[in-house]
Amino acid sequence: MFLSAIESFLQLRNYPSFQPKVIFFDMDGVLYDSMKSHASAWVSAMTDIKIPFTAYEAYMNEGRTGQSTIDGAYQQHRGRNATEEEKQQIYKLKTHYFELCGPTEKMPYAHEVLKKAQQQGLGIFIVTGSGQLTLIDNLESSFPGVFHKERLVTAFDVIQGKPHPEPYLKALAKAGVQPWEAMVIENAPLGVESAVAAGIFTVAVNTGPLESKILYDSGANIVLDGGMRELYEKWEQLSSIQILQP
Ligand code: CA
Repeated sequence: MFLSAIESFLQLRNYPSFQPKVIFFDMDGVLYDSMKSHASAWVSAMTDIKIPFTAYEAYMNEGRTGQSTIDGAYQQHRGRNATEEEKQQIYKLKTHYFELCGPTEKMPYAHEVLKKAQQQGLGIFIVTGSGQLTLIDNLESSFPGVFHKERLVTAFDVIQGKPHPEPYLKALAKAGVQPWEAMVIENAPLGVESAVAAGIFTVAVNTGPLESKILYDSGANIVLDGGMRELYEKWEQLSSIQILQP
């Protein structure tokens, strides 16, 4: 299953080889079980300013920067982008509601996958649209010794958030690798689009309420219905495949 997905990827992209040296992990919905809280915080913040917004929409917008999510809702319901002042006000509300949800739990099996990747000597990066300082600060206590500050790409590092390729292009540059030397673990349609647009082999773990078909339609090379648990169980199989073309 994995080999044929990788072979089709190489053929489509016309890359010389497939030899991942670094793994780019998305954060929310992959490493943290935080999407329920994000979705409910968005719904509450938008309700406060009388813009209809559902949890499903929050999941479909997952990966965008907060500013872009707010502009999207304003365009749809008010026919214009939000002003800077409005964006700040709404993002403040959203952050407030998110913090009320309490501490964010790690996604089951995430730490185990990270440890396996670390033991294999793979570089581990986080590529997130998040600007939630609490989550970023919590990384070290959640996953001690796994992450380095210079191996993070966050909302603060990019002008264009996901689904634009900039976050993953920036990650390739920070890691100093070619697209065929990296692999992405994502859970959201827009995150998958961003990684695919950056030309990187993308594994989608379905950890939320959306149908897996949406993740395939976004361009994921592999979709794991069983989420992080399935990724953990199949990690050796997935990470051992290297293709060197003559
Ligand atoms: Ca995500």
